[in-house]
Amino acid sequence: MGDARLDLDGVDGAFVTIEGLPRPDWDVILKAAAGAGYAYGAGADLEPWTDLVRQWLVRLGSALGSAYAIGESDGFLVLSPFDDRNERASWLDRARSSIIKYTGMPNGDDMAKSVVMFFGEAEQYYSYVSASDDVAGEYIASAGCFISRGYCHVCVAPGPKWSIEHTLLHELVHMLMVAKPNPLWLEEALAEILPGVILDYSPFHVDHEMIERHQACWTPERLAAFWSGHAFGDGRDDVSELAYHLSELVTRRILQDWPKRFKEFFGDAMDTDAGQASALRHLGVGLDQLVADILGPGDWAPDPARICADLGIDPDAPEES
Ligand SMILES: [Zn+2]
Repeated sequence: MGDARLDLDGVDGAFVTIEGLPRPDWDVILKAAAGAGYAYGAGADLEPWTDLVRQWLVRLGSALGSAYAIGESDGFLVLSPFDDRNERASWLDRARSSIIKYTGMPNGDDMAKSVVMFFGEAEQYYSYVSASDDVAGEYIASAGCFISRGYCHVCVAPGPKWSIEHTLLHELVHMLMVAKPNPLWLEEALAEILPGVILDYSPFHVDHEMIERHQACWTPERLAAFWSGHAFGDGRDDVSELAYHLSELVTRRILQDWPKRFKEFFGDAMDTDAGQASALRHLGVGLDQLVADILGPGDWAPDPARICADLGIDPDAPEES
């Protein structure tokens, strides 16, 4: 890297103010960092990048109020108005280790520190996230979300501890998995299952009535939207709720019947075929068969052409970097 630390106070346009809060313009910041000789890629020193992220959080924190400060651990930078910010950062380190151990995903030690923001007031949370035009995550209205644009981060609204922890872990799973294009059904299932593993509780429930609801809901057309991920945002009837539940049913079945092969299955599962090729290779059974075991016989196989159309992916195009 260059010999000087890049001070973002001296970079024109590094931040823009929206809804009263400073937002980094990462295009401007990356250009300035390149100009200052900041290197990235394999073997690069990550501390200068973490320092830029810290500068962003300091600036945002002072706009949010004097209680806000940064907590830090090996893998996380936490912006929080609460005194236990360092403990929260260490807790996140441990949660991340569990997620990595359970899924076999890459450990992310080639990345700068991950960011989690805790908000002390609901209004501040909404001011912050409402101006982020790329909010992923379905808990926006309630408790937290994952913002994938710019420098990925998770935001958590104030709330009861149990609710915050589950939401935080759900969005953390999404954030840690952002580098790989997972089938959404599988990622959502893990984002529900892993918080239960880490927090040592399981709200998952299945009974005769649930199975009947699934059998009444899913048609081949709706299941095609399940494989592409569109069903998770479907507001009709119970489609979205049942999509989450079905994703857990299928994933829990795989974890139970093929515990030793789960990591390989997960590692090779791609969004473009919903993980079908990986299931056939590592489990010796298609996803359509796993679904048929729940719904009964039917035309349940993922259709890559339909999935790519839903996802807006050109199946022949080289993968985006
Ligand atoms: Zn989710």
